[in-house]
Amino acid sequence: MQTWTQMKDIQPLAAQMLMNSFKKDRISHAYLFQGNRGTGKREMSILFAKSIFCKNREGAEPCQSCRDCHRIDSGNHPDLHWIEPEGQSIKKEQILHLQKEFTYTGLESNRKVYIIVDAEKMTVNASNRLLKFLEEPNQQTTAMLLTESGPTILDTIRSRCQLLAFQPLNPLRVREKLVEEGVSESNARLLSSLTNNLTEALEMNEDEWFANVRKLVIQLIEVLQNKPNEGLLFINHQWMPHFKERTQLQRGLDVLMLWFQDVINQLLDREESIIFTTERENLNQAAMRWSRQSAARSLTDILEAKRKINQNVHPNLVMEQLTLQLQR
Ligand SMILES: [Zn+2]
Repeated sequence: MQTWTQMKDIQPLAAQMLMNSFKKDRISHAYLFQGNRGTGKREMSILFAKSIFCKNREGAEPCQSCRDCHRIDSGNHPDLHWIEPEGQSIKKEQILHLQKEFTYTGLESNRKVYIIVDAEKMTVNASNRLLKFLEEPNQQTTAMLLTESGPTILDTIRSRCQLLAFQPLNPLRVREKLVEEGVSESNARLLSSLTNNLTEALEMNEDEWFANVRKLVIQLIEVLQNKPNEGLLFINHQWMPHFKERTQLQRGLDVLMLWFQDVINQLLDREESIIFTTERENLNQAAMRWSRQSAARSLTDILEAKRKINQNVHPNLVMEQLTLQLQR
């Protein structure tokens, strides 16, 4: 459940524009929400719909507790329609069905709102159908088109929409949002260092595979510190079996890089920047094992390994070489 105050934190410009439309009592017939996945488009569209339907709205802020607000939260408000891709695309029939629904006046008020998710996936026929619909706007209808890729939307549709650009989130904001969503502080630090996509970060937080990546990185460090002779054994028996795809291995190396950045943070007493906050003892040990120079050199080695994996060098080979470099 989001409020405008929270949305203004994440997307100041877009939120302000929508809030203003309530202040001036001028809600457009169509909006295009454009921005990467995880930038809050869906959350903002739900909040906007609530503000439109809520009868206890104060300023732009909906009450969040009336029947209208509740039914929007649970996804069954009779005058709010969602259109999402069926399979790979949004088809003409889906738009036709929507239009048919809209020939009846709103079930409970005169207002109707529809939200098209992944609007760039509309087929040409669906787009043309929607265009006709937008050309004859009904006073009480509001459309929200959500898309990651604005340029693929027909110009004729774009020109009929008020454009709202959703900006990428900054890492600190992502971290705060994740903690608000119940992610632990240490995981939030790690995830927000890997992606500025809130949705992806939340998915990774639930992902057992990713939880094991974190564990494996810590284990690799422990092996390098305490049992350097077993480094290659660990790589072949524990590490490699977990990273079947090259993209997965890249992710593992990203986390390993964050570890070495932490070693440097630890050596420089940059407390606030430390990511692995739950691994203090390991970090202390690492700060004795690695100097600033050798940790920095390790970062370069990992970057080089990432580059090789991109260039299709055999992953096993790359990891074995990297392990030998890291334990120099
Ligand atoms: Zn309400």
